[in-house]
Amino acid sequence: MKTTKKLILSLFIVSFCISCQVDEVLEEQNEIIEELPENEVEIDPRFLEFLEKSKIVTKDIQRFNDGYIIGGDVLVTDEKLNEWWEIQNNPNYQSKTVSIVSVPNNQVRTITYRFAPFTPIATQVLVNDVMAKYNSIRNFNLKFQQTTSTNQDLLISMNSLIPGIGLGSWPFNGNIGDSIELDPIWFGSSSNSDGQKKFVIAHEIGHCIGFRHGDWAQAGEGLFDEFGRFIGAELIPATFEGDPFSIYNSGPFYNSTVPNFTDWYYTDLLAIRFMYSKDKTEKPFYSYISTSTGWANWTTNWNTYGYGNLQYGYWGVTGYIYSSPKPGSTTLYKYTHSSGTPYMSTTPNLHVSIPSFSYNGTLGHVFSGPGASRTPVYEWYNPSVGYFFTTNAVDNYVQGPGWIGGGIAFYAMSLGTL
Ligand SMILES: [Zn+2]
Repeated sequence: MKTTKKLILSLFIVSFCISCQVDEVLEEQNEIIEELPENEVEIDPRFLEFLEKSKIVTKDIQRFNDGYIIGGDVLVTDEKLNEWWEIQNNPNYQSKTVSIVSVPNNQVRTITYRFAPFTPIATQVLVNDVMAKYNSIRNFNLKFQQTTSTNQDLLISMNSLIPGIGLGSWPFNGNIGDSIELDPIWFGSSSNSDGQKKFVIAHEIGHCIGFRHGDWAQAGEGLFDEFGRFIGAELIPATFEGDPFSIYNSGPFYNSTVPNFTDWYYTDLLAIRFMYSKDKTEKPFYSYISTSTGWANWTTNWNTYGYGNLQYGYWGVTGYIYSSPKPGSTTLYKYTHSSGTPYMSTTPNLHVSIPSFSYNGTLGHVFSGPGASRTPVYEWYNPSVGYFFTTNAVDNYVQGPGWIGGGIAFYAMSLGTL
């Protein structure tokens, strides 16, 4: 294993070193790709594309069981290849690394961070602000805490030799990536705002907890890190590849102008909570609109409609609801009106008192009154469309003719922070 590891490492160093000479690499890859089919191994054309996009330059490819072995060491299974292909061809997902920080269920893991010597106080203040922003995320199972002890989990330092303006390391073995390096010139320049500097810091912390670039596939980034370790890319439901509001895209995505970080956008919150929820019974309440009739539908199960199927288009999230009862919670029932429009209510047996409704089981558990971190859900009805529920008190969807209602149906948990 040692020799083959070395082989892999040198392979990546080679591809890493020549990454600036793009033309040469492409030329070389084209040669390899032309040569490969002549091997005795029958190669899936998608695997050739995988090699090219992952910037893997090697002729040592073997078919082994249900996959390919690259360089005698790295196995890419057919299943992983299918997953990769799906990501490449599905423009709708933000992605995370396969390995993230491990936290026992229903617990909060404290992550300590330390500033290396010579970290300017002004930069330390910004980092502390961003850490507080992460700590303010509700139901988040990581807690960042500054330390002066040298056995910190995460070291923050200034380094003028890094390739960009910030660098964060990937999580490894269930632990947070152990370093963030920031360019002292860019961070010291008064022409970059505090908001821009916080954006870079929040972005790098994202890498340390397992965020891939939202546009990693478009940006041509592979599934391995610069040490040849497999980091992978797993899909995060209800997020979008290349989401313009996400802070986790690649540098070129922002056209070299770093945006300001002020507060969390909901898709990044959904992604963070997908990876790091303390109470995993709290679920995003995915909402859909029928593409044929305009009425709404809801589920906590992403697999039911995903980004849209069975004539339902993904609309967004109506807060969070619970999959099991909580103190003071009430059950949310699903009904269907005889017109076909889905409906939901905290009233049990509605189909008994109003026979034009049929019963479709329960959706989850919500609250009938206001409380900490709860958000009202407003109910609307349009005789020529159907029912619609929203957490937005001035939702555009119900501004047209025919909509009546607007009363509070129940309270869900808010998407936002503490
Ligand atoms: Zn990045």
